[in-house]
Amino acid sequence: MTKYLPQNTGDIARRYISDPKLLKFIDMECYCWSVVPADKTPMINAGMVFSDRHYGGINYPKGGVGQIAAKLVEGLIKSGSEIQYGARVTKILLEGSRAVGVKLATGKEYRARRIVSNATRWDTFEKLLPAEAMPASEKRWQKRYQKSPSFLSLHLGVKAEVLPPGTECHHILLEDWQKMEDEQGTVFVSIPTLLDPDLAPPNHHIIHTFTPSWMEEWQGLSPQDYQHKKEVVAERLIARLEKIFPGLSDGLDYQEVGTPRTHRRFWDAMTEPMAQFPNGN
Ligand SMILES: Cc1cc2nc3c(=O)[nH]c(=O)nc-3n(C[C@H](O)[C@H](O)[C@H](O)COP(=O)(O)OP(=O)(O)OC[C@H]3O[C@@H](n4cnc5c(N)ncnc54)[C@H](O)[C@@H]3O)c2cc1C
Repeated sequence: MTKYLPQNTGDIARRYISDPKLLKFIDMECYCWSVVPADKTPMINAGMVFSDRHYGGINYPKGGVGQIAAKLVEGLIKSGSEIQYGARVTKILLEGSRAVGVKLATGKEYRARRIVSNATRWDTFEKLLPAEAMPASEKRWQKRYQKSPSFLSLHLGVKAEVLPPGTECHHILLEDWQKMEDEQGTVFVSIPTLLDPDLAPPNHHIIHTFTPSWMEEWQGLSPQDYQHKKEVVAERLIARLEKIFPGLSDGLDYQEVGTPRTHRRFWDAMTEPMAQFPNGN
Protein backbone atom coordinates (compact mmCIF):
# COMPACT_ATOMS: atom_id res chain seq x y z
CA MET A 1 0.00 0.00 0.00
CA THR A 2 2.78 2.46 1.00
CA LYS A 3 4.32 2.31 -2.49
CA TYR A 4 1.20 4.07 -3.83
CA LEU A 5 1.24 7.00 -1.38
CA PRO A 6 3.81 9.24 -3.15
CA GLN A 7 2.48 8.40 -6.65
CA ASN A 8 0.09 10.83 -8.27
CA THR A 9 -3.59 9.99 -8.46
CA GLY A 10 -3.94 10.85 -12.17
CA ASP A 11 -1.36 8.24 -13.25
CA ILE A 12 -2.93 5.53 -11.14
CA ALA A 13 -6.47 6.44 -12.23
CA ARG A 14 -5.49 6.26 -15.93
CA ARG A 15 -3.86 2.88 -15.39
CA TYR A 16 -7.22 1.37 -14.45
CA ILE A 17 -9.88 3.70 -15.85
CA SER A 18 -10.43 4.87 -19.42
CA ASP A 19 -13.85 6.54 -19.22
CA PRO A 20 -13.03 10.25 -19.81
CA LYS A 21 -16.02 11.42 -17.74
CA LEU A 22 -14.98 9.32 -14.76
CA LEU A 23 -11.40 10.60 -15.09
CA LYS A 24 -12.70 14.18 -15.07
CA PHE A 25 -14.77 13.38 -12.00
CA ILE A 26 -11.62 12.10 -10.26
CA ASP A 27 -9.87 15.32 -11.32
CA MET A 28 -12.61 17.36 -9.67
CA GLU A 29 -12.61 15.19 -6.54
CA CYS A 30 -8.91 16.00 -6.16
CA TYR A 31 -9.29 19.64 -7.13
CA CYS A 32 -12.07 20.36 -4.63
CA TRP A 33 -9.84 19.14 -1.85
CA SER A 34 -6.30 20.06 -2.90
CA VAL A 35 -6.92 22.83 -5.53
CA VAL A 36 -4.80 20.89 -8.04
CA PRO A 37 -5.96 18.22 -10.51
CA ALA A 38 -5.40 14.48 -10.09
CA ASP A 39 -2.03 14.60 -11.88
CA LYS A 40 -0.65 16.78 -9.10
CA THR A 41 -2.44 15.18 -6.14
CA PRO A 42 -0.40 12.52 -4.32
CA MET A 43 -2.31 9.34 -3.44
CA ILE A 44 -1.81 10.06 0.24
CA ASN A 45 -4.16 13.04 -0.16
CA ALA A 46 -6.47 11.31 -2.59
CA GLY A 47 -6.91 8.51 -0.08
CA MET A 48 -8.52 10.99 2.26
CA VAL A 49 -10.70 12.46 -0.49
CA PHE A 50 -12.03 9.15 -1.70
CA SER A 51 -12.44 7.35 1.58
CA ASP A 52 -13.29 10.09 4.03
CA ARG A 53 -15.63 12.12 1.84
CA HIS A 54 -17.52 9.13 0.47
CA TYR A 55 -17.45 6.51 3.21
CA GLY A 56 -17.08 8.73 6.27
CA GLY A 57 -19.60 11.30 5.05
CA ILE A 58 -19.57 14.96 6.01
CA ASN A 59 -19.73 16.24 9.57
CA TYR A 60 -20.88 19.71 10.40
CA PRO A 61 -20.43 21.36 13.82
CA LYS A 62 -23.75 22.78 15.06
CA GLY A 63 -23.38 26.54 15.54
CA GLY A 64 -20.89 26.93 12.68
CA VAL A 65 -17.26 26.11 12.10
CA GLY A 66 -16.14 28.55 14.85
CA GLN A 67 -17.51 26.01 17.33
CA ILE A 68 -14.48 23.79 16.68
CA ALA A 69 -12.15 26.52 17.92
CA ALA A 70 -14.52 27.45 20.77
CA LYS A 71 -14.60 23.84 22.04
CA LEU A 72 -10.82 23.53 21.79
CA VAL A 73 -10.49 26.73 23.84
CA GLU A 74 -12.87 25.33 26.48
CA GLY A 75 -10.74 22.20 26.78
CA LEU A 76 -7.46 24.09 26.88
CA ILE A 77 -8.66 26.43 29.61
CA LYS A 78 -10.04 23.50 31.61
CA SER A 79 -6.61 21.91 31.55
CA GLY A 80 -4.94 25.08 32.83
CA SER A 81 -3.93 26.91 29.63
CA GLU A 82 -4.30 30.59 28.94
CA ILE A 83 -5.26 31.96 25.51
CA GLN A 84 -4.11 35.43 24.44
CA TYR A 85 -6.24 36.87 21.67
CA GLY A 86 -5.05 39.58 19.29
CA ALA A 87 -1.46 38.70 20.14
CA ARG A 88 0.59 39.00 16.97
CA VAL A 89 3.88 37.14 16.90
CA THR A 90 6.46 39.09 14.92
CA LYS A 91 9.50 36.94 15.63
CA ILE A 92 10.40 33.45 16.79
CA LEU A 93 13.33 33.76 19.21
CA LEU A 94 16.27 31.43 18.61
CA GLU A 95 19.17 30.21 20.68
CA GLY A 96 21.50 28.67 18.15
CA SER A 97 19.16 26.70 15.90
CA ARG A 98 16.61 26.06 18.64
CA ALA A 99 13.34 28.00 18.99
CA VAL A 100 13.08 29.18 22.58
CA GLY A 101 10.40 31.87 22.52
CA VAL A 102 8.30 34.39 20.60
CA LYS A 103 8.24 38.16 20.43
CA LEU A 104 4.89 39.94 20.06
CA ALA A 105 4.11 43.14 18.15
CA THR A 106 3.79 44.83 21.55
CA GLY A 107 7.44 43.97 22.25
CA LYS A 108 6.54 41.45 24.95
CA GLU A 109 8.53 38.22 24.88
CA TYR A 110 7.52 34.72 25.99
CA ARG A 111 9.85 31.80 26.48
CA ALA A 112 8.98 28.11 26.59
CA ARG A 113 10.47 24.65 26.31
CA ARG A 114 8.59 23.97 23.07
CA ILE A 115 7.48 26.50 20.43
CA VAL A 116 4.80 25.44 17.94
CA SER A 117 4.00 27.67 14.98
CA ASN A 118 0.54 27.41 13.45
CA ALA A 119 1.20 30.24 10.98
CA THR A 120 1.63 29.10 7.35
CA ARG A 121 5.01 27.59 6.64
CA TRP A 122 5.76 30.58 4.37
CA ASP A 123 5.10 33.01 7.20
CA THR A 124 6.94 30.83 9.71
CA PHE A 125 10.11 30.37 7.68
CA GLU A 126 10.15 33.62 5.67
CA LYS A 127 8.81 36.17 8.14
CA LEU A 128 9.05 34.93 11.70
CA LEU A 129 12.48 33.32 11.42
CA PRO A 130 15.63 34.91 9.96
CA ALA A 131 16.46 33.81 6.37
CA GLU A 132 19.67 32.07 7.46
CA ALA A 133 17.69 29.85 9.84
CA MET A 134 15.76 28.13 7.05
CA PRO A 135 16.53 24.41 7.23
CA ALA A 136 17.65 22.61 4.05
CA SER A 137 14.55 20.39 4.24
CA GLU A 138 12.32 23.49 4.06
CA LYS A 139 14.25 24.86 1.05
CA ARG A 140 13.71 21.54 -0.74
CA TRP A 141 10.02 21.55 0.18
CA GLN A 142 9.55 25.09 -1.18
CA LYS A 143 11.05 24.07 -4.52
CA ARG A 144 8.70 21.10 -4.90
CA TYR A 145 5.40 22.66 -3.87
CA GLN A 146 3.37 25.46 -5.35
CA LYS A 147 1.16 27.78 -3.35
CA SER A 148 -2.57 27.23 -3.76
CA PRO A 149 -4.73 30.18 -4.77
CA SER A 150 -6.68 32.24 -2.29
CA PHE A 151 -10.47 32.38 -2.49
CA LEU A 152 -13.19 34.77 -3.39
CA SER A 153 -16.25 34.28 -1.16
CA LEU A 154 -19.79 35.34 -1.81
CA HIS A 155 -21.99 35.17 1.28
CA LEU A 156 -25.70 35.29 0.52
CA GLY A 157 -28.77 35.48 2.72
CA VAL A 158 -31.77 34.21 0.76
CA LYS A 159 -35.48 33.62 1.25
CA ALA A 160 -36.20 29.95 1.99
CA GLU A 161 -38.34 29.50 -1.12
CA VAL A 162 -35.22 29.88 -3.32
CA LEU A 163 -34.23 26.34 -2.33
CA PRO A 164 -36.50 23.62 -3.67
CA PRO A 165 -37.42 20.81 -1.23
CA GLY A 166 -34.66 18.19 -1.02
CA THR A 167 -31.85 20.62 -1.95
CA GLU A 168 -28.45 19.16 -1.05
CA CYS A 169 -26.06 21.03 1.24
CA HIS A 170 -23.04 21.04 -1.09
CA HIS A 171 -22.67 21.72 -4.79
CA ILE A 172 -19.81 22.24 -7.23
CA LEU A 173 -20.49 24.31 -10.31
CA LEU A 174 -18.29 24.15 -13.42
CA GLU A 175 -19.65 24.79 -16.88
CA ASP A 176 -16.51 23.92 -18.86
CA TRP A 177 -13.97 21.26 -17.81
CA GLN A 178 -11.19 23.26 -19.51
CA LYS A 179 -11.77 26.02 -16.94
CA MET A 180 -11.58 23.88 -13.81
CA GLU A 181 -8.29 25.44 -12.67
CA ASP A 182 -9.00 28.98 -13.89
CA GLU A 183 -9.39 31.91 -11.54
CA GLN A 184 -13.12 31.82 -10.63
CA GLY A 185 -13.49 28.66 -12.76
CA THR A 186 -14.87 26.17 -10.26
CA VAL A 187 -17.49 27.39 -7.83
CA PHE A 188 -18.04 25.62 -4.50
CA VAL A 189 -21.38 26.07 -2.79
CA SER A 190 -22.29 25.27 0.77
CA ILE A 191 -25.66 25.84 2.46
CA PRO A 192 -25.04 25.33 6.18
CA THR A 193 -28.58 26.28 7.21
CA LEU A 194 -29.90 23.08 5.62
CA LEU A 195 -28.11 21.23 8.43
CA ASP A 196 -28.29 23.95 11.08
CA PRO A 197 -31.35 26.21 10.50
CA ASP A 198 -30.62 28.29 13.64
CA LEU A 199 -27.77 30.06 11.80
CA ALA A 200 -30.29 32.16 9.83
CA PRO A 201 -33.55 33.95 10.74
CA PRO A 202 -36.72 31.87 10.23
CA ASN A 203 -37.59 31.22 6.56
CA HIS A 204 -34.13 32.18 5.37
CA HIS A 205 -30.98 30.34 4.33
CA ILE A 206 -27.29 31.13 4.06
CA ILE A 207 -25.58 30.27 0.78
CA HIS A 208 -21.80 30.44 1.00
CA THR A 209 -20.15 30.35 -2.40
CA PHE A 210 -16.43 30.37 -2.90
CA THR A 211 -14.15 30.13 -5.88
CA PRO A 212 -10.35 30.22 -6.32
CA SER A 213 -8.91 33.69 -6.88
CA TRP A 214 -5.43 35.17 -6.69
CA MET A 215 -4.37 38.20 -4.66
CA GLU A 216 -2.87 39.75 -7.84
CA GLU A 217 -6.37 40.01 -9.38
CA TRP A 218 -7.36 42.45 -6.63
CA GLN A 219 -4.29 44.57 -6.08
CA GLY A 220 -3.51 48.02 -7.44
CA LEU A 221 -7.17 49.07 -7.71
CA SER A 222 -8.55 52.38 -6.48
CA PRO A 223 -11.20 52.00 -3.70
CA GLN A 224 -13.92 52.74 -6.28
CA ASP A 225 -12.54 50.25 -8.83
CA TYR A 226 -12.16 47.63 -6.11
CA GLN A 227 -15.76 48.12 -4.98
CA HIS A 228 -16.97 48.04 -8.58
CA LYS A 229 -15.04 44.85 -9.34
CA LYS A 230 -16.57 43.18 -6.28
CA GLU A 231 -20.06 44.10 -7.47
CA VAL A 232 -19.40 42.85 -11.03
CA VAL A 233 -17.98 39.57 -9.74
CA ALA A 234 -20.93 39.05 -7.35
CA GLU A 235 -23.41 39.64 -10.17
CA ARG A 236 -21.60 37.17 -12.43
CA LEU A 237 -21.47 34.52 -9.70
CA ILE A 238 -25.17 34.98 -8.89
CA ALA A 239 -26.00 34.60 -12.60
CA ARG A 240 -24.04 31.32 -12.66
CA LEU A 241 -25.75 30.12 -9.47
CA GLU A 242 -29.16 30.75 -11.05
CA LYS A 243 -28.59 27.51 -12.99
CA ILE A 244 -28.74 25.56 -9.74
CA PHE A 245 -31.19 27.84 -7.95
CA PRO A 246 -33.55 29.49 -10.43
CA GLY A 247 -35.03 32.69 -8.93
CA LEU A 248 -31.99 33.29 -6.71
CA SER A 249 -31.61 36.97 -7.66
CA ASP A 250 -35.24 37.69 -6.75
CA GLY A 251 -34.93 35.87 -3.43
CA LEU A 252 -31.79 37.70 -2.28
CA ASP A 253 -31.96 39.29 1.13
CA TYR A 254 -28.29 40.01 1.83
CA GLN A 255 -24.97 39.76 0.04
CA GLU A 256 -21.33 40.26 0.96
CA VAL A 257 -18.19 39.64 -1.07
CA GLY A 258 -14.84 38.71 0.45
CA THR A 259 -11.75 38.80 -1.78
CA PRO A 260 -8.19 37.58 -1.16
CA ARG A 261 -7.55 41.15 0.04
CA THR A 262 -10.34 40.79 2.59
CA HIS A 263 -8.81 37.59 3.94
CA ARG A 264 -5.41 39.24 4.27
CA ARG A 265 -6.86 42.31 5.98
CA PHE A 266 -8.96 40.33 8.47
CA TRP A 267 -6.05 37.99 9.11
CA ASP A 268 -3.77 40.92 9.90
CA ALA A 269 -6.42 42.64 11.97
CA MET A 270 -7.20 39.46 13.94
CA THR A 271 -3.64 39.36 15.15
CA GLU A 272 -3.26 43.15 15.60
CA PRO A 273 -4.97 44.42 18.74
CA MET A 274 -5.50 48.01 17.62
CA ALA A 275 -6.14 47.44 13.89
CA GLN A 276 -9.16 49.09 12.26
CA PHE A 277 -11.14 47.76 9.32
CA PRO A 278 -10.90 50.55 6.75
CA ASN A 279 -13.74 50.92 4.26
CA GLY A 280 -13.57 48.72 1.21
CA ASN A 281 -12.43 45.49 2.82
C1 LIG B 1 -12.53 28.68 1.55
C2 LIG B 1 -12.13 27.54 2.43
C3 LIG B 1 -13.03 26.49 2.66
C4 LIG B 1 -12.68 25.44 3.49
N1 LIG B 1 -13.59 24.45 3.70
C5 LIG B 1 -13.30 23.44 4.55
C6 LIG B 1 -14.27 22.44 4.84
O1 LIG B 1 -15.39 22.46 4.32
N2 LIG B 1 -13.92 21.44 5.69
C7 LIG B 1 -12.69 21.40 6.28
O2 LIG B 1 -12.43 20.49 7.06
N3 LIG B 1 -11.76 22.35 6.03
C8 LIG B 1 -12.04 23.36 5.18
N4 LIG B 1 -11.10 24.31 4.92
C9 LIG B 1 -9.76 24.16 5.51
C10 LIG B 1 -9.73 24.60 6.96
O3 LIG B 1 -10.32 25.89 7.08
C11 LIG B 1 -8.27 24.66 7.40
O4 LIG B 1 -7.67 23.41 7.16
C12 LIG B 1 -8.17 24.96 8.89
O5 LIG B 1 -8.74 26.21 9.19
C13 LIG B 1 -6.69 25.00 9.28
O6 LIG B 1 -6.65 25.23 10.68
P1 LIG B 1 -5.35 25.69 11.38
O7 LIG B 1 -5.67 25.88 12.84
O8 LIG B 1 -4.21 24.79 11.02
O9 LIG B 1 -4.99 27.09 10.71
P2 LIG B 1 -5.80 28.44 10.73
O10 LIG B 1 -7.27 28.20 10.89
O11 LIG B 1 -5.32 29.18 9.52
O12 LIG B 1 -5.27 29.15 12.06
C14 LIG B 1 -4.03 29.77 12.14
C15 LIG B 1 -4.17 30.87 13.17
O13 LIG B 1 -2.90 31.46 13.43
C16 LIG B 1 -3.05 32.86 13.52
N5 LIG B 1 -1.76 33.48 13.17
C17 LIG B 1 -1.12 33.47 11.96
N6 LIG B 1 0.02 34.18 12.01
C18 LIG B 1 0.12 34.64 13.29
C19 LIG B 1 1.09 35.45 13.98
N7 LIG B 1 2.18 35.90 13.36
N8 LIG B 1 0.86 35.73 15.29
C20 LIG B 1 -0.26 35.28 15.94
N9 LIG B 1 -1.19 34.52 15.33
C21 LIG B 1 -1.02 34.20 14.03
C22 LIG B 1 -4.14 33.21 12.52
O14 LIG B 1 -4.77 34.44 12.84
C23 LIG B 1 -5.10 32.01 12.70
O15 LIG B 1 -6.04 32.25 13.71
C24 LIG B 1 -11.41 25.39 4.09
C25 LIG B 1 -10.50 26.42 3.87
C26 LIG B 1 -10.85 27.49 3.04
C27 LIG B 1 -9.87 28.62 2.84
